[in-house]
Amino acid sequence: MDLDLTGKYALVGGASKGIGRAVAEELALLGANVIVMARSYDLLQQAVAALPNNGTQKHNYIVADNSQPQALREAVVTFMQTHNLFTIHILVNNTGGPAGGPAIDAKPEEFVSAFTNHLLCNQHLAQILVPGMKAAGFGRIINIISTSVKQPILGLGVSNTIRGAVANWAKTLSLELGQYGITVNNVLPGFTETERLESIIGNKAAKSGSNEATVIAQMKQETPAGRFASANEVAAAAAFLASPAAAYINGINLPVDGGRTASL
Ligand code: NAD
Repeated sequence: MDLDLTGKYALVGGASKGIGRAVAEELALLGANVIVMARSYDLLQQAVAALPNNGTQKHNYIVADNSQPQALREAVVTFMQTHNLFTIHILVNNTGGPAGGPAIDAKPEEFVSAFTNHLLCNQHLAQILVPGMKAAGFGRIINIISTSVKQPILGLGVSNTIRGAVANWAKTLSLELGQYGITVNNVLPGFTETERLESIIGNKAAKSGSNEATVIAQMKQETPAGRFASANEVAAAAAFLASPAAAYINGINLPVDGGRTASL
């Protein structure tokens, strides 16, 4: 099975922590040159220094904020010009999830903000990178979204809505770009041990009036695997989709949820 990403460049969003950082690690383990992106210069420096490196890999970082899509676009374009880089073969669209709460209580501006942070940034990045992917005859766009595209999650109204938009955007792109050797797929994490999960557990406990241990036990009980995922387990699925071996997988939603999603 060809998992070798030697010589390939990857750009990973939300890569200072959590699932994004783990994806960056897994791609680096397969040989890619990985560019990590997020808002914090300090955390990105630490992430780059900690990435696996066989001595020839050129890892780097871009400081950018998904709430500012035009500035994010300019940061990526400037980086590519400065480093004389025409092709980034792998794009992993990932950033922090929207705040929780029922859809009916969300302010309309929260939907605009989520659309901006998720869909608009994905679109800017795809437009920048697809020409290089086409020229290389190899491209991978992988979106880290949520199992809510298969089964909405109560209490995550804005997130459920925006994930659906990203999933339909991705499916449409997969139809448009497959002919160029570019695949577009979504990874749907289940409960994954990151800061995001800690905040979800805290919110559930506060809302239900029970303690966090009880909430954690309930969440694990909902999951056939009986446990949470590590960020690297989710990242491994993304890294496989990025590999040459996954060339014929296009336009899918891949749950990595320990079997929790109760739909086909
Ligand atoms: P996390 O909060 O641990 O990490 C998010 C990353 O995105 C961090 O690097 C953070 O700095 C970065 N980020 C946040 N806001 C940003 C912004 N405005 N601009 C640039 N970077 C920004 O989250 P995670 O658990 O790794 O989740 C990643 C994605 O997967 C999120 O969309 C999340 O909702 C989704 N998800 C997570 C879980 C889970 O259980 N952890 C489950 C389903 C879906």
